[in-house]
Amino acid sequence: MTHPTGPRFEGKSYDFAKYVDCQNWIGGEWVAASTGESQAVVNPRHGEVMGRVVMGGAADVDAAVAAAKAAFPAWRATPMRERAQILYRLKGIMEENMEELAWLLCHENGKLWGESKASVDKAIECLEMGCSLANMMAGGQLDVSRGVNCEVSYEPLGVVAGIVPFNFPTMVPMWMLPQALVSGNTFVLKPSEKVPFGAQKLAHMFKAAGLPDGVLNLVNGAQATVEAICDHPDIKAIGFVGSTKVAKIVYERGAAHGKRVLALGGAKNHLVLVNDADLELASENIPASAFGCAGQRCMAASVLVGVGDVQKYVDRMVELTNQMEMGKDIGPVIDQAAVDRITRYIDDAEKRGAKVLVDGRGKKGPGNGFWFGPTILDGVTPDMPAGCDEIFGPVLSIIRVNTLDEALRIENKSPYGNAAAIFTSNGHTARYAVERFQAGMCGVNIGVPVPREPFSFGGWNDSKFGHGDMTGEDGFRFWTRPRKVTTKWAKQADQTWMG
Ligand code: NAD
Repeated sequence: MTHPTGPRFEGKSYDFAKYVDCQNWIGGEWVAASTGESQAVVNPRHGEVMGRVVMGGAADVDAAVAAAKAAFPAWRATPMRERAQILYRLKGIMEENMEELAWLLCHENGKLWGESKASVDKAIECLEMGCSLANMMAGGQLDVSRGVNCEVSYEPLGVVAGIVPFNFPTMVPMWMLPQALVSGNTFVLKPSEKVPFGAQKLAHMFKAAGLPDGVLNLVNGAQATVEAICDHPDIKAIGFVGSTKVAKIVYERGAAHGKRVLALGGAKNHLVLVNDADLELASENIPASAFGCAGQRCMAASVLVGVGDVQKYVDRMVELTNQMEMGKDIGPVIDQAAVDRITRYIDDAEKRGAKVLVDGRGKKGPGNGFWFGPTILDGVTPDMPAGCDEIFGPVLSIIRVNTLDEALRIENKSPYGNAAAIFTSNGHTARYAVERFQAGMCGVNIGVPVPREPFSFGGWNDSKFGHGDMTGEDGFRFWTRPRKVTTKWAKQADQTWMG
């Protein structure tokens, strides 16, 4: 008998384990792609194929949208409290199967066990926000004049879609699904073709929690699937998370087809280190931010701007980084293309005069996969590619300046604006910097300043296209539209302009 949460993933350690092939989930059926195409899903630690994923196209998007459209009337008519109950049940199922979910992520994405577990915890936290909506989002009403009442309610948009990246296979879909589904939409999700299994598991778990067929559909694939989503006339809104290049394409193409689009893009996050900062706090936090999840986080520290003499901090960071063990303290990156790209940035920075304080090139881990050691570059300048491009790997580029204003000018010049943080022991300095950062998510003595629920997630500038943020209350607003109803039941003696 099949398990209610789908085929079990049996891996319970980093040892290589295979998994089943991933199909599309349309109207409550697992189906092959119309294209007949599929591609390998490679375990980044071992470099071995753990399964395959179908690669869909426009016909698969059509089928998923048709299923979502058919499911919409009944789902919309289901009271919000009942819709939220499904998320409560899903939370229980995810907690019961936490180990399996987390090990699956270790294998498809390469994360360390602790990183995987934390990302599933965060996915559950996002789910809790969805559970709360039925208590938080009742709408509102007011007597706006004598005998005249105005009421606002938030209505679903219809069929909506989400397109997600490889770095958080379970968490990023949960930035979208709770708010979108609880508010009454039906959904087409396009997982990353590099890591399709996390979303596949979620679909099984949603089903086990009682989500009606067709309310959530998965179409696997890459560019062709994404383009079909952008162009489809029956998809009303798209949430996208990925690189800036693709975020811009999806934003523009989706908007050209009249859709509401919120597209979160890439990042180049600056951490400003002032030499009054706590030595241990800063020296532990900064490498943890740069090298956690092998630097494959949109919130990872990428540039460290040291103000004044920060040598003792750099020395301590180098010492701590040199202690990191491959495969235990840092996992692999996603594929060989990532290893090659990161190598190119370091070679180039070295050629331009940067000093490689810790060199991750050629470092191997336990397994024949895609390893890259943590790397610290010193003497980087803001115009070097390593100083301004998103590298998306375990590389920390140090730029040294004399004043805080100089540091802020460098941060402000970056076209991105996802996160920025300052390390200092002085409250005024912290406030001065935070008020001037060009970033949507700022930190004080925190290397990864992710605003946890109920606060919303989203950057500024080239790190986000569209209005509002992805999670929290903003997420609810994004996936709904307000209906205002103005009512009068009797003619009033004292006429107003609304009479
Ligand atoms: P990506 O942009 O390559 O892929 C994202 C999605 O777009 C995937 O589902 C992919 O299949 C699809 N896609 C890829 N190329 C496409 C194309 N040419 N046309 C249409 N669709 C395409 O991103 P990735 O490599 O999977 O993820 C890493 C990137 O995501 C980094 O830039 C990272 O900063 C960013 N990211 C941002 C956030 C955020 O909140 N801002 C969060 C996580 C990741």
